Amino acid sequence: MKLDIILSGGLVVDGTGNPWFKADVGVKDGRIVKVGKLKGFKAEKVIDVRGLVVAPGFIDMHSHSDLTLWVNPKIDNKIRQGVTTEVVGNCGTSPAPLKGEALKEAERFIESLPGGTGKKPNWSTLAEYHRRLEEQGVPVNVAVLLGHSTIRMCVMGCKGGPPTGSEMDEMKALVAQGMEEGAFGISTGLVYAPGCYAETSEIIELARVVAEYGGIYVTHMRNEGNHLYDALREAIKIGKCAGLPVHISHHKAAGRLNWGKVKVTLKIMEDARRNGVDITCDVYPYTAGCTWSLSPVLPNWILEGGVEAMIERLRNPEVRERIRRQVREGVGVSPLLELGEWDSIVIGAVKTEKNRRFEGKTLAEIAEMRGVDPLDCIFDLIVEEEDEITSFFFTMNEEDVHYVIKHPLSMIGSDAVPQRKSGLVHPRCYGTFPRVIRRYVNETRTLTLEEAIRKMTSAPAQRLGLRDRGQIREGFWADITVFNPRTIRDEATYEDPYRYPVGIEYVLVNGTVAVEEGRYNGSLAGKVLRKETEKTAAS
Ligand SMILES: [Zn+2]
Repeated sequence: MKLDIILSGGLVVDGTGNPWFKADVGVKDGRIVKVGKLKGFKAEKVIDVRGLVVAPGFIDMHSHSDLTLWVNPKIDNKIRQGVTTEVVGNCGTSPAPLKGEALKEAERFIESLPGGTGKKPNWSTLAEYHRRLEEQGVPVNVAVLLGHSTIRMCVMGCKGGPPTGSEMDEMKALVAQGMEEGAFGISTGLVYAPGCYAETSEIIELARVVAEYGGIYVTHMRNEGNHLYDALREAIKIGKCAGLPVHISHHKAAGRLNWGKVKVTLKIMEDARRNGVDITCDVYPYTAGCTWSLSPVLPNWILEGGVEAMIERLRNPEVRERIRRQVREGVGVSPLLELGEWDSIVIGAVKTEKNRRFEGKTLAEIAEMRGVDPLDCIFDLIVEEEDEITSFFFTMNEEDVHYVIKHPLSMIGSDAVPQRKSGLVHPRCYGTFPRVIRRYVNETRTLTLEEAIRKMTSAPAQRLGLRDRGQIREGFWADITVFNPRTIRDEATYEDPYRYPVGIEYVLVNGTVAVEEGRYNGSLAGKVLRKETEKTAAS
């Protein structure tokens, strides 16, 4: 048998968590066909990887590249980190289905992406989105979750309150259709409008449909700060009542007063597992979060009816006063606002030219530059920028991040929010996966290399139900990342985020070399992954 590629002489870290071993890896027709001594074998291409680690390609469990991958297929910030699969459709927002307000929102998003000017989505269903990606090609494999907010917007627009009976039926039908078309589950973003207007019962009802198809429930919980425990209990309840696995997104305890709570939450998760609820979480290796807008720091009601309605409201001094009161009383606002930690909020990118000078500055600095109080500064910026403000929130502590990363139930997700036409992105867009190895394996020794790789490969593959990816194993797809375990490091910082990591030497996607000697060659060998649903398989 002649092979396509032999990776010769590397240290195989196979993704299971087991200790590394020395072996050659043979690839043919997109799959790993031989692991062992391949002396007698011939291949089109033999790559000498002595001294390098041969690992499964990394799976980014939490990505927001949904629309970026369509606008800029050759975007390479993920593949240069060794990522070969991205899970999109997170935090309640998905690229499909799109109609009504959901379509308008997607258009608004695309418009602010580099290369997005004038582009309009030419799909409505998930099946059509899949096909659009396949027509133009993708650099990595893509797995899609259905976004609860997106589905709600398709049916109910941006309004608050519970759905009527027929609205509920319509949402359930969209969920069923999305699952039939290969979605891996449903995600919620319960701090964002309109997802935040849903009661637990609405989510349970939709999650029941997902459960029928063997999908998972992925959640950006209703609260990651003062009410973290309640929010986690809600997620567990949804898993229990709907009968499906639960996955907590970007797990953290936000706000100084809440630091340390992750020790309790992970215990709650362990207890839930003992009681039969299959629950896991993901985490990114940074102490700052990031959103695509600034409004999530304000009370939920401000966004009822959508962005335009919010902007209208924020022009009204009485509304501003009402929010001030809520901040004083600490009800339904971000912990940062309650504590007045204005230097913990950094504005990364804005829409208008006139506010460009504020990019990279803290809210405290901007308020001083503008000569207004910080809350008014937030209101004014949201109005002027129509809320198109990439914001960083320095709300976590390093000890908590360590604790979550070390815990066996966590896996790695970047939560990378795409870049706008100008301004800054969060360094996690360029650094997440190499950073985990550099910092938490090589420097602090929080994790063994094998455990770190497991959290980036077989753990997310298992969570998604991908049975033939995420390990270096004969018969599995040849998604492979080859890196130098001594030199691997992230280079991206908050000040200078657009910097590729060092030490990722080769990346193969479905058996095709995409990164060679550290450079992306433009290959589009990714596949759209469709969940083989238990329901459709049986019928
Ligand atoms: Zn989120």
